[in-house]
This record gives sequence, C-alpha cells and structure tokens, in this order.
Amino acid sequence: MTLAEVDPQRATAGTGRGPGPSEVADRLRRGRAPRGAGRTMAIIGAGLVAACVLVALLAPWIAIHSPTEPSGTPFARPSSAHPLGTNDVGQDLFAQLVFGARVSLVIGLGAAAVALVVGGLVAVVAGYYRGPIEAVLMRLVDLMLGFPFLVLVIVLAAFFGRGLWTTIAVIATVLWARPARILRSQVLKLRELDHVVAARAMGASGLWVMGRHILPRIAPLGAAQFVRAANVAVTLEASLAFLGLGDANRLSWGTMLYFANARSAFLTDAWRWWVAPAGLALTTVILGLAFLSYAIEEWADPRLRRPAPRPVRRRALPPLAESAEDAPALELSGLVVDYRLAGSAIRAVDEVDLVVHRGRILGLVGESGSGKTTIALTVAGVLRPPARVVAGTLALAGRELGRPARPVVAPFRGRQVALVPQAAMNALNPAYPVLAQLVEAARLTRGAAEATTRATELLERVGLPASRHRSFPHELSGGMRQRAVIAMALVNDPALLVADEPASGLDVVTRAQVLKLLLELRDQMHLGVLLVSHDLPTISRLADDLAVMYAGRIVERGPAAQVSSSPKHPYTRALFSAFPALHGERRPLASLPGEVPDLTRVPEGCRFGPRCPDAVEECRTGDPALEDVGSGGHEVACLLRRTP
Ligand code: SF4
Repeated sequence: MTLAEVDPQRATAGTGRGPGPSEVADRLRRGRAPRGAGRTMAIIGAGLVAACVLVALLAPWIAIHSPTEPSGTPFARPSSAHPLGTNDVGQDLFAQLVFGARVSLVIGLGAAAVALVVGGLVAVVAGYYRGPIEAVLMRLVDLMLGFPFLVLVIVLAAFFGRGLWTTIAVIATVLWARPARILRSQVLKLRELDHVVAARAMGASGLWVMGRHILPRIAPLGAAQFVRAANVAVTLEASLAFLGLGDANRLSWGTMLYFANARSAFLTDAWRWWVAPAGLALTTVILGLAFLSYAIEEWADPRLRRPAPRPVRRRALPPLAESAEDAPALELSGLVVDYRLAGSAIRAVDEVDLVVHRGRILGLVGESGSGKTTIALTVAGVLRPPARVVAGTLALAGRELGRPARPVVAPFRGRQVALVPQAAMNALNPAYPVLAQLVEAARLTRGAAEATTRATELLERVGLPASRHRSFPHELSGGMRQRAVIAMALVNDPALLVADEPASGLDVVTRAQVLKLLLELRDQMHLGVLLVSHDLPTISRLADDLAVMYAGRIVERGPAAQVSSSPKHPYTRALFSAFPALHGERRPLASLPGEVPDLTRVPEGCRFGPRCPDAVEECRTGDPALEDVGSGGHEVACLLRRTP
C-alpha cells in the first residue's frame, strides 16, 4: 500500500490514479495490515529481531558456561561441551555470543530511544511553533547531518571515554538529527491540513492540537525512525568496539570481534567459530531491523493512520463581557496587515474599520487579492506568517482585545468567534464520523454527555438527518459536509461567525440552501455573521450590510439595500454591471478593464484610478476617504461621489 493510495488529502486533490475518498476511508477504518512484500518483510524482520531479543533475555539459561571464566582449553574447536569452541584463554565463545547480545541490543535500542526523543522534540518545536527557534534548530540539524557520522562518533567516543551509558549518549548524539528532519517535515504538513487549521479556529489550544491531531499521526513514522536508528546504533556500537573504543569489560558482539582481531584469530582457523558467529549475529539483527523499519514505513505513514480516540481536556474560556448581548459581535478599527516577503512589506489591508452587530450579516465583497480573506483570518485569529498585523484594534462581543494578533484572539476562538473556512469540505477530519468531530469540539467547554447532546442538536438544526450523524465525511454530499462544518463552528455558541466563501464549490441549488441556512442561524442564534465572498449580487440579497473592498481598502459600505439599489462608487457599479439582473429590463453585461493593482506598486492617488471610467485629473493625486453619501451610514471613498 503506497502513500498516495491511502492519503485522503492526496486522493481528493491528486492525480486521479489513486482510489477515491470512500476507498481511502474504508482502508483507514479497517486499519489494514501490510500486504505483499511489505507483509513478508514485516514477518521476517519481526522474527529475526524477536529471536535476537529472546536469546538476550534467556542468556543465563541458554549458556552452559560462564562467558568470562575459562572453562576449556585455549582455542578448542567446537564440541558438545563448547558448541562454538573457546578463545585464546579458554572462555566459552557460545556463552560470550548469547551474553553479548544483551549489550549490543541495549546500546542499540537505548541510543535509538534517546535519539528519537531528542529528534522528536526538536521536530515538534521547530515544525509547530516555527519562527526564529525553527531557524536555529534546523541549522543545528543541518550541521549534524553534514558531518560523516562514523568519524564523528569515533571522535566523540575517544573524547568522552568508554562505558555503557557513555556509548549510548555518544551514538544518540549523532543519530537524533535525521528523525528531527523527517518528523519536522511531517509536522509542517499536518499543521496546515484544513481540519487542523479548523480545530485551531474552533478555539483548541496548541498543546491540545498537538496531542490530538499531530503526535498520533507522526507516531508511526516515529516508530519507523526508531527502528532505523536502532539499526544504525547496533552497527556503530560494533564499529566502536571493534576499534577498541567500546567498554572492554562488557561483552558485546563488537567486543568479540575486537578480541578476535587483537588475539590473532584471523591468522588461524579459529576465526570460523570466533568471528563468524558474532558477524552472523550482527547481520541477523541488522537485517531484521532493516526489514522491520521498511515494513513500518510502507504500512504506517503518519498521514495514513487513524489516531486512537483520546480523552479531550476541557479548556476554561474567558467569561463573556457583561454587556455581551448588547454589544456588537465585532468592532474592528484601523486594521493594517502586511505580508513580509523577501525583505519587503506588502500592505494587504490598509486602515479598515468594520462593525458587525448581533443578529445581522455583514457581506464583505471584492475581487481576489482585495484583502477580504486576510481580514477574515485576522478576526478569526488564524492569520499566519508571513502576514503580520501592524496596527488596529479588535473588540469581540464588547470585549476590547487590542491589536488582533493571533495569540490575542486565540483564547476567544470557538466561544466568541468561529470560522467556517474556504474549502470547508476539507476542514473535516476524514478518519472520524462527523458527530464525533462535533462532540470533540463541544467538549472544549462541556462534559461528555452535554457535548453529545449539543452536537446532536446542532446537526439537526443545520438540517443534517440523524441517519447521517455517524457518517464519515466522504459519505456525505457537499452540502451535508458544509452543514456539518457550520454546525461545528457554532457548537460553542460564538457571538460572531466568520464565513469565508462558505458556499464555494457547491452547485447552485446547494449554495442557495447553505446561504439560506446562514440566514436562519442568524435569526435563531442571534449571530453576527461576517460573510466573505466575491459574489456581490448574491451577497447583496442575503446580507443586512455590505462593505466593498478594493486593493486593501473599503471603497463603499452601508445598508445592503441602499448599496445594491444605488451604488455610488464606480467599482461597486462595475461589479453589479458584471452580473445579469434577475428583474427589470435586460442590459448588456459590462466587464471591468484591467486588473487589481499589484500591491507592491499601489497607484498614486485613488487606487481604482487606472481602471475607473470616471477618473479625472484630480484622482491622480487625491486619496479619497470614506464619506457619508446618504442616510443610514452609506459611505463611499470617491472624490466625485457621483450618483449613477
Ligand atoms: S476618486 Fe476618481 S478614480 Fe477614484 S473612484 Fe472616484 S472617480 Fe474613480
């Protein structure tokens, strides 16, 4: 089974050669064991390693003689009394072989365990938290991987001396970097999966997301890395011992080879019973570990594993403000967001103010690149680097939060603000039934029984039939999945719902149903909704208020009825003219010439000037601000403020 065959993300967005989402989820649910060559290797590898471990454990009962006391004549050939003969001082080589397994395996497995713990810690910290600490840690990893590790381990062993624990520490020092690099790349991918981003948007803490969505899914790859590291560690221990850098007082297979070489076994036929069995034992365990690690990697890539259910730790959320019921769900003032790319800052959002009242929908519309999604992600507290909030203040349900940087908003995600992200179909974890995912989100603020009741009630409220509550995401239609995602966003009773293109990718009928659902939820739950879309005509019929964005700024806003019946800004008029009218006279569709300006080179004067059919000379220098043009808060940023 290959990665592409069973990765749901890849199956939905991949080349089309792999199985569909249904087959993928079925395989995940069944937890199918490796097949074909992978299965054979798993059996052989596990058998070889188990045999070596068994010999090590049973050494005192298997060995007839002491491994350190002379029990025969020197250089005795194999016999019934000494199955592998004796060495130059008459010690039994069979006893040395079985007792030597203990030291070789303890050092191999011990060094691998230490390397995995250190490497895993580095991977998680660097991959999840990123930033300067990631840069420092990964440079260290590069440095470690740049050294020839055999040379490095010899130098370290010579410097730190001999001993069991010293050898384990020295070998682990050169082995941790590889698991760190491999596991960190997995953490980077997992943290960007939509359902992980959605979990954070629902208010889950970083540690909880790590425990629930990241660690269980990198654990199988961690196991493969452990086995691989153990393989290398056994080889390194034998190499060090053979070179005389091991602990000569502890017998290992490497020590046997060292003494055989030092005492001239290679010059006589004694090498056949002194060297060959130790070499064969080393080959056996190395082959076994290699087969096993290969089989684990084949079978259990972290993105393919269905993590075991874990108890959810409830998180205390900050109490709501006393005036929460009366205060606007959202008050955003003077928001400025930059994207820092290649040393320069691109201003994606420039001095934006927004207010969303409880029980009302604010439609935020504009072309791609206008900054509307950046605002949505900022308000939901999931804006990621290279984006950075430069200025502005945010208040949620009457609570002043100050500058809306991600850590500031994070404690309020879920209860006071929740996000329905773009491509919400992928926001669901493909390995869990939707009800389980809602219960999981609800348990952030409730006990298990109450969470189940709440999750069931919400799924019914959004119109998902009870017969589908325990379905996996791939078993639902697009509209049903969208309803489930909306229900999950609302499960902790937020005051504000941020919906970023919530109906994208759906057919016309389903889209209308989903948007109608938002209207119903607005009324039933007294929700404030920030609805982000590029579809101005649809949103203007659905929303209570409209804000039209162009090149990072709001160019017109006001009551939706007023803005749609009498748009004042040339850009708003052009957007309406680009869609056919549903009622009244037929009119030709107009297309807007040009493109949204490159934000690295914003035009002088009015930003819309180069595309504006009404532009005059004054527009080249004047920078229009929003001004009232009518009653009810209808504002327009146009120097001419013309009526059509
Ligand atoms: S200020 Fe000038 S260029 Fe800008 S929208 Fe108004 S008329 Fe057009």
